[in-house]
Amino acid sequence: MARRKYVICCLCGYQHPIIEKPYPQLCPGCNKIYWEKPINERRLMLLQEKYDASGRQDKEPFQEMLLIIEPILHNLIASKLKSSAIYLEEEKRYDLVMDSLVSFAEKYNKPGFKITGSFVGYLKTHILNPLYNPKKKRREKNGSFHAHPCFR
Ligand SMILES: [Zn+2]
Repeated sequence: MARRKYVICCLCGYQHPIIEKPYPQLCPGCNKIYWEKPINERRLMLLQEKYDASGRQDKEPFQEMLLIIEPILHNLIASKLKSSAIYLEEEKRYDLVMDSLVSFAEKYNKPGFKITGSFVGYLKTHILNPLYNPKKKRREKNGSFHAHPCFR
């Protein structure tokens, strides 16, 4: 696969050479912040700022974040199941998404916690991976995916 040469603004399509780092904070095309992130990451970052600006008192931005994150978790879990050739009934898949969402909300609302890189990256590494493989030992013994009650 050819290596990507440009990072593209998710809003206006402006192309910036990937090798020219650091990227400008505001898009040179449309002047918006977080332009270099995927659109959902951008929305989540803005909601996080709004939530933090209220001292985390205003719960509405957080609720909005969860509404964006839920379908992301759904997709991540569906593709993980597919790549592991595991079939789960819709109801159990839904349980898994909800448990992941609750786990995210709990971790996120610990004092001082915030996402600085990528929300999707955080979800994969800290929410979904422990769900599938809580301990290496367990994975070796039972194969992956047996951590969550849905898989037992
Ligand atoms: Zn732009």
